[in-house]
Amino acid sequence: MKNYRENLVGVFGDPVDENPTGAIEQAGFDYLGLPFRFLTIKVKEGDLEDAVKGMRAMNFSGIGVTMPHKQTIMQYLDEVSKDASIIGAVNTVYWKEGKLFGENVDGKGFMMSLKDNNINPYGKKIVVLGAGGAASAIAVELALAGAKHITIVNIEETQGERLVKSINDNTESEAEFNLWKGTYTIPEGTDIFINATSIGFVDGTQCPDVDYNSYGKDTVVCDVIPNKTTTLFLDKAKEKGCKTINGLSMLVNQGTLCFELWTGEKAPLEVMTNAVKREFNITD
Ligand code: NDP
Repeated sequence: MKNYRENLVGVFGDPVDENPTGAIEQAGFDYLGLPFRFLTIKVKEGDLEDAVKGMRAMNFSGIGVTMPHKQTIMQYLDEVSKDASIIGAVNTVYWKEGKLFGENVDGKGFMMSLKDNNINPYGKKIVVLGAGGAASAIAVELALAGAKHITIVNIEETQGERLVKSINDNTESEAEFNLWKGTYTIPEGTDIFINATSIGFVDGTQCPDVDYNSYGKDTVVCDVIPNKTTTLFLDKAKEKGCKTINGLSMLVNQGTLCFELWTGEKAPLEVMTNAVKREFNITD
């Protein structure tokens, strides 16, 4: 018999109109001929509980979660992963053994990008610029993977100290906070240096206020900016001979993780990479 029903997935957020996730995931579903439909759904701040009830009632296969719901959604789920609870935010929901389960794949996408470049963070000394959502997810995953020392650098203290405390309380890593005042000098012996701020996202001529002469040539330099294959921050690192990793690969990687959690099928990486590039008008 012909089946007219599609498996529903999507993203809840507000604002959400400009979120490109649907184009990326749908490209993968269509390529593999999977009966999945991605919906970009505006859910206002006070409506999240009803929205989660709705997705349960309508048998959604999963949902992505973006601002302002990444923290509040946790109370409406059956279970949350250890990583997501240490990070304090969920950005993907799926069904696991009959339970609605919250996961955070932001940092996991980053970890996949490190692995793709044969970099193991175990025992490494790492510096993260920023203390927001991306920085928290990345720093916690690095700590859980055995990073030796993580320095969180932020212009505002409360968020940075909160993240450092969470890492120190819940992982074997040693974390410390550096207040970012003026030009930041990278500590000697830094193995991995990550820009996890939003600097450079809208205006490609901007980059973090860092002493770019303080890079060691063996430092691996990463940027989370998702809409470019390179950034000024990464270009300056390349000039010093450093290996670099961009945020586009992190974005695609986390898209593939959601795809696999929702469908149970292996995600078509190349198709989804091309879809991301198309959405961001990237031609290289
Ligand atoms: P948040 O708003 O949660 O955090 C932004 C961080 O950047 C904060 O720590 C903020 O400091 C800092 N920041 C912003 N402007 C400046 C500045 N001028 N100088 C110094 N620090 C600054 O955002 P997210 O963490 O969610 O996102 C950050 C970036 O990561 C965005 O560009 C986003 O697109 C990207 N991203 C990429 C992903 C990927 O897959 N590649 C996934 C998720 C996000 P303060 O604490 O003072 O506000």
